[in-house]
Amino acid sequence: MTWTASPSGIPSLLEMHSTWLKMCRSIAELNEVTQIYRSAAWRRMDRVVRYAESTIRTANSPASRRGAKGRGERRATAASGRPFACTITVAMKTYRIALLPGDGIGKEVIPQAVRVLETVAQDFQLTFEHFEWGCEYYLRAGRMMPDDGLDQLRPFDAILLGAIGHPTVPDHISLRDLLLRIRFGYDLYVNLRPIEVLPGLDPPLRNKTPQDVNMLFVRENSEGEYCGMGGRFKRGTPDEFAIQHAVFTRKGVERILRYAFEQARQRPRKRLASATKSNALNYSMVMWDELLKEVGRDYPDVAVSNYHVDALAARMVTHPETLDVVVASNLFADILTDLGGALQGSLGLAASANLNPTARLGPPMFEPVHGSAPDIEGRGVANPIAALWTAALMTEHLGEPSAAERIMSALRAVTGEGRIRTADLGGNNTTREFADAVIARLA
Ligand code: ATP
Repeated sequence: MTWTASPSGIPSLLEMHSTWLKMCRSIAELNEVTQIYRSAAWRRMDRVVRYAESTIRTANSPASRRGAKGRGERRATAASGRPFACTITVAMKTYRIALLPGDGIGKEVIPQAVRVLETVAQDFQLTFEHFEWGCEYYLRAGRMMPDDGLDQLRPFDAILLGAIGHPTVPDHISLRDLLLRIRFGYDLYVNLRPIEVLPGLDPPLRNKTPQDVNMLFVRENSEGEYCGMGGRFKRGTPDEFAIQHAVFTRKGVERILRYAFEQARQRPRKRLASATKSNALNYSMVMWDELLKEVGRDYPDVAVSNYHVDALAARMVTHPETLDVVVASNLFADILTDLGGALQGSLGLAASANLNPTARLGPPMFEPVHGSAPDIEGRGVANPIAALWTAALMTEHLGEPSAAERIMSALRAVTGEGRIRTADLGGNNTTREFADAVIARLA
């Protein structure tokens, strides 16, 4: 990108390019420019240009030339001769996204999310790389992803996944060999699922307003009931039995509770509800409850409620307005958030983020909560809202909150207008038509 920034011709050319790094006299100076850049939209880039100009003018001053040392000296030497062209770079942040559209409607909604992301990426760049892993790949290759799949994905900044599942591939294979492999492999121990009713969409609950349904689910995502340990014995005989273990570690429970408390602390209502079942699950959930109390001591500003999971499910329907942040085990939250999707108005609305907020073993993964929906696959009618909301979560976690906010505002504007709706919300628009409307709002 090029600017002609100075009428004097010193410098005559300001271009965003890596030479700026060489021009900086100190790390502090570099940081200052980077900060300006980070906080600036392109349209405010003139601040960077002005800053660069004044820095270079200072370096060109006689005093500066006399005292110039090191990098400053090089600049002064250049400036002491004829007018020179100076090149400036404030590197544009680029994020590498691994795209796994997966199966069924995943392949229909993810391309729309990419279009929206491309529209909103103005202050930063996104590059996308496609991976065709999933059930179709399994039917060809005999596995859901290559053996070194986690290594291939590791360098990316984020994974954007559509949906995994196909009627011809058993669910436990498709879930365990791809989704859970990524979640467990990178220790993405937080699964974040916002449950909100968008404007213009009537919540299916009678006598409840959209404001009544506003929850943030924090699902434990790395152990619990989904650890995959156990076995089947005496298969096919009358004595057959199966054992399915659930693993709850102090580390695993403590860290998810702490994350949930942190989320609650940042929200206006500062409330946390925990899903338990300690009356029946007398080891795992009793420990969960004890740790809830223990961790809660560090968060006296957060109001905590502890509900049995069945009572919590009922409360989501009868008193959703009393729920703010909800923390639950892997299985409990999986079930409760499908109910949450229904409370939003459709499973096609619920978004999720898989995160490890404390260590990086691999990139975070972002995915709509819905599955591959084979019943509507191939018709171009899937609701893309969950995928677009997921894209907003991704940009937010990449460190681009204003892009996330823009996507969400555009989504809210389109639903609020009530003109464009997919069939699950009672309309007859296509996946693409909905995304077009969002993009039009963003343009
Ligand atoms: P999984 O086991 O992966 O959760 P599932 O078959 O239980 O998958 P989904 O694939 O999510 O569940 O589908 C459940 C129902 O919701 C189906 O009738 C499907 O058509 C509908 N549905 C899911 N996602 C969408 C969407 N984005 N738009 C419209 N309808 C959807």
